[in-house]
Amino acid sequence: MIDFELSPRIKGTKNMIHMFAESAVRPIARQYDEQEHEKPWDLLKMVQKVMGGGIAGALGSPEKKEKKEEGDQPKEKKPRETNLAGAITVEEIFWGDAGIALAFPGPGLGGAAVQASGTPEQKEKFLARFAGEEPSWGAMAITEPEAGSDTANLKTSAVLDGDEWVLNGEKIFVTSGKSALEDSEGFVVVWATIDKKAGRAGIKPFVVEHGTPGMEITKIEDKMGIRCSDTVSISFMDCRIPKENILGSPEVVDKTKTEGFKKVMATFDATRPLVAAMAIGVGQASLDFLKEKLTEEGLELRYGINPHRMFSIERDLMQMEADLKAARLLTWRALWMLDNGLRNDLQSSMAKAKAGLAVTRITQKAVELMGPLGYSRELLLEKWMRDSKINDIFEGTGQIQLLVTARRILGFTREQLK
Ligand SMILES: Cc1cc2nc3c(=O)[nH]c(=O)nc-3n(C[C@H](O)[C@H](O)[C@H](O)COP(=O)(O)OP(=O)(O)OC[C@H]3O[C@@H](n4cnc5c(N)ncnc54)[C@H](O)[C@@H]3O)c2cc1C
Repeated sequence: MIDFELSPRIKGTKNMIHMFAESAVRPIARQYDEQEHEKPWDLLKMVQKVMGGGIAGALGSPEKKEKKEEGDQPKEKKPRETNLAGAITVEEIFWGDAGIALAFPGPGLGGAAVQASGTPEQKEKFLARFAGEEPSWGAMAITEPEAGSDTANLKTSAVLDGDEWVLNGEKIFVTSGKSALEDSEGFVVVWATIDKKAGRAGIKPFVVEHGTPGMEITKIEDKMGIRCSDTVSISFMDCRIPKENILGSPEVVDKTKTEGFKKVMATFDATRPLVAAMAIGVGQASLDFLKEKLTEEGLELRYGINPHRMFSIERDLMQMEADLKAARLLTWRALWMLDNGLRNDLQSSMAKAKAGLAVTRITQKAVELMGPLGYSRELLLEKWMRDSKINDIFEGTGQIQLLVTARRILGFTREQLK
């Protein structure tokens, strides 16, 4: 049965992370928005020490094994809530600041890909490093100049030559790509085709580690929002990696099947609800701030009265709250399904579509309702509006999430509904 009453363990973590976000992250949010491409190193090192890989737990690091001592009594079975707990942590840190949160060390999307497609040995090799003392980063590179929403159109190639894969191509908009490539333990999971004629079935993920010759950062983006997080273009020119760095099978078993491509989707089933949680964190920050300011001005929200008797501003605020709650419930449902081993692709897309739309509307309305002050850099509202839009873009745009949702509900194939 689905029960969305948070367990005492999650509630405790949520409160702790909220206090941390309020005291350590929020106060430096403006500074690292102004100083794009710089990192709050003291904070990141502290995060690594305390959290062991930042918010990595949510994004694919291996679970720590507890040592058993002789005579230990079997423990009470805990509810499966790893992904849900991760999302609540994500929401709270993003409440503090989205740009800084995205710059936190951890395996990131690259780790999620290893988790979804890697062998136990690969998981051990590539994910265990994130539990170390020093901050480390992982990244994932799918997007290309001519392959964004239509990922199946990607052109980066991987050709087997003896004991090595040789990668050639260009990837753009890689989150934490610079951090991952500058870090001695870092890696990028690169999606490339091993057989262009095979279409989706030929697409495979490869781990390319820091320092591999033939891999080069060609551009660092200047962005509208999430400016503390680095986003780069990476080129691959005869970039040779060990044969065993492919994630999953190198076979293109059946050209009508899409094994490799389904692995990309399995990665997103786990990460899209986390992007939704990021959006909810930013939306909640705007709403909390707005309500605090309006309360100071003497506005009292009259819940329960007939909407036609409300002030317009009350209706606006209640609509914002309702949107945020709906997004949160969809997100928790998608994560609950993931934690319980249920297929959640539809629910993940629904959660991301709703949360991306909700946060862009909420932050924009918050700027509007605060008048000129909302537009001023004196407050963080304008920043939250800039930071929010990315949730409707990366890991599949809002339009693509609606398309996936429509296909699943109506029973259409990819070819029938484009
Ligand atoms: C800050 C940032 C960080 C990113 N990080 C990463 C990363 O770490 N790794 C990575 O691989 N990529 C990353 N991306 C890329 C991101 O995933 C893509 O931008 C996104 O998937 C959209 O692809 P596109 O930009 O090529 O847009 P396009 O696919 O060209 O789409 C343009 C517009 O058309 C719409 N559209 C496209 N197809 C349809 C359709 N069939 N029906 C209706 N509307 C449609 C889209 O919704 C969009 O509004 C990042 C992007 C940004 C901005």
